Amino acid sequence: MSSGKRLQVLNSHISPPPSAMASEKDAALAAVPSDSPTIFDKIIKKEIPANVVYEDDKVLAFRDINPQAPTHIVLIPKVRDGLTGLSKAEERHIEILGRLLYTAKVVAKQENLKEGFRIVINDGPKGCQSVYHIHVHLLGGRQMNWPPG
Ligand code: 5GP
Repeated sequence: MSSGKRLQVLNSHISPPPSAMASEKDAALAAVPSDSPTIFDKIIKKEIPANVVYEDDKVLAFRDINPQAPTHIVLIPKVRDGLTGLSKAEERHIEILGRLLYTAKVVAKQENLKEGFRIVINDGPKGCQSVYHIHVHLLGGRQMNWPPG
């Protein structure tokens, strides 16, 4: 294999192809920030299926339908309580925000992400948020890049 091809193959494990990046961005730009119920409410109510990996009385974690890494899990509060995104956080949300992060660590261990993982919270159109129910992305199983795209 030529060195150029080898680099291309290597990079294909590091970043999604430009077309995938464009569609994620398009989805985020198309999403209108709002307080309306989201697809995540349907997942919480079990009205649509999701591959749930963790659940307690406050937090639900399930595999992302469009994974950006071998392990890609979304963690959400079961009660949104106005937290459409992190920018809407108020003091009353401190407990649930800490719980989401702590649960991400628990799920990372459960998923055997011993060598590291990444936590992402997208906020607003420029942050590439597409679902307005706060959520933490847990990504792992491949080498992450810095700076992120
Ligand atoms: P955001 O772009 O808002 O940070 O992240 C929303 C995430 O939710 C995206 O990664 C998207 O793939 C995921 N997602 C959207 N709809 C569904 C769904 O119906 N099921 C699952 N499992 N994930 C979803």
